[in-house]
Order: sequence, then C-alpha cells, then structure tokens
Amino acid sequence: MVKFGPSGNSNAFYDQGYKSSLDAPGWLRDMGLEAYEYSCTKGVKIRESTAVQLGEKARENNITLSIHAPYYLNLASPDEDKRRNSIRYLMESLQAARWMGAGRVVFHPGSCGKTGRAKALELAKDTLSRAIDQADGKGFGDIVLCPETLGKTNQLGRLEEIIEMCKLDSRLIPTIDFGHIHAYTLGGLKEKRDYLRVFEVIEEGLGRERLKNLHIHYSRVEYTGRGEKKHWTLADTRYGPEFEPLAEVLIEKDINATIICESRGTMAEDAAVLKEIYCKIRDKG
Ligand SMILES: [Zn+2]
Repeated sequence: MVKFGPSGNSNAFYDQGYKSSLDAPGWLRDMGLEAYEYSCTKGVKIRESTAVQLGEKARENNITLSIHAPYYLNLASPDEDKRRNSIRYLMESLQAARWMGAGRVVFHPGSCGKTGRAKALELAKDTLSRAIDQADGKGFGDIVLCPETLGKTNQLGRLEEIIEMCKLDSRLIPTIDFGHIHAYTLGGLKEKRDYLRVFEVIEEGLGRERLKNLHIHYSRVEYTGRGEKKHWTLADTRYGPEFEPLAEVLIEKDINATIICESRGTMAEDAAVLKEIYCKIRDKG
C-alpha cells in the first residue's frame, strides 16, 4: 500500500484554528491521507508526553509517522566534535521516534565543504556506522534511518552517495527526494524514463526489497546553477518535476512507498492531490 501525507503542517491547518500537531493525525485522516512526517528540522524539542500522545492519535487515525531529523546535522564535517554532535541529533530523533512509535527517521547527511565529495562520503559513512552502533546500544535498532537525496550541488546527497551510505547496513532505506534530484541535476527529471533510471539505480545498488519500501519526498522545486533554491506548490506549474510520470513508474514497479509532500504551505492539500493522481492512473491501468 502506497501511503501519502505531508511534511509538517499546512497553513490551512492553522487557518482553521488548530494550534497543536496533536490534532494533525485526525485532520489528515479526514483528508484521506495515511502518513505524517513530524518535523524536528530545527531541533528535537518535542517532550516525551507530547510525543506519546501524538503516537496514540496517529494509531487511532491510521496515520503512519516518520520524523525529519534536524537540518544542521553534518555527518561529513571535518570537525570531530560536529560529527559527534550529529550522532547525538540522530539519537535524539530516534528517541522521539520511539516515544511516538514512528518507524522512520529521515535525515540530511551533510555537506561536502572543502573536503571534496569522495572524502566527505568516507567521513559520512564512518559517522553513520558509529550512529548505527549507538542506535543498537540504545535499543533503537528497529527504527529505520533514511538518508535523503539533497538538492544543492555542494551537499552530500546525490543518489549514488545515498545508495553507498545505505549499503552500510540493510536496515537503511533511502529517502528519494525527487524535487532535490531534479534540482541538483539541473532539471534532469523530464520524462518517465528519467524516473525509471532512478529506480533502476536503486534496485541495482540495494535490491528489490528496499526499492519496494522506499521513502519518497516530492515537491516542485526552483533551482539555480548551484541546485535547489526553493520549494513551491503543485499549483506552481512553472517548476518541475512532474508527478504523473513518477506515479506511473511507482504503479508499474509495484512500489509500496511512503510519499511525503513537501509543498510550501499546502503540503497536506497537495498530498491529497498526489494521491488522487496516483489512484486515477492505477485504476485506469
Ligand atoms: Zn529533507
């Protein structure tokens, strides 16, 4: 079963008078959605009692939870203190995931800095192995870590780099952010075969099982020569990539992904439209 949901809360959620994310699972179910990515991108600040309540609400409403870890972690930092702190942010995210019963923690691996891509990847893999060991030590081994493809050209997170990281341990599942791939390839996702190629590369690197359980981010993205500039909404059709060819490939390859919409401000409404597009193509099939 493919699941659709937003990253964080839509403007409409707040406009309708809701103030707490505890109301999000019920609100999302009423929109026909199945997933919710709780954002800890500015730091893991959620309290245990709130996280536990959010988990209960999510289960009552059949909403699958994931967490997005802080943006500022950098597994590839040349500074050992920063790498150690990055492991700590991952552990805090895993702890919050445990409290709320979230099965996945999405994270941005970091940046290439001045070290160069190859060296940055080596550092990130080393830091990630240490994080996996610590996660096991703390009893978080069953929560899936999902390194994400990133959109800026100087970030560590091209598709091939994410696959290399995921080879470290079979529990790692990539977060494939198609907006980001479109941005760092400077508009590379145009036709169905461009999406197919992404899925082929993942299957070759990580096998069918992980391909079937992908974590996916989607939004339209504006980019410059340095990659990602800004996320837009589904209505902003001057920016790609298009969702239809992606939906076709997901259906053809029978992929049970969780698809998180990261539109700016309208992520939940747009997630519902993505689901509609997906279902229409599937039912026609
Ligand atoms: Zn992200």
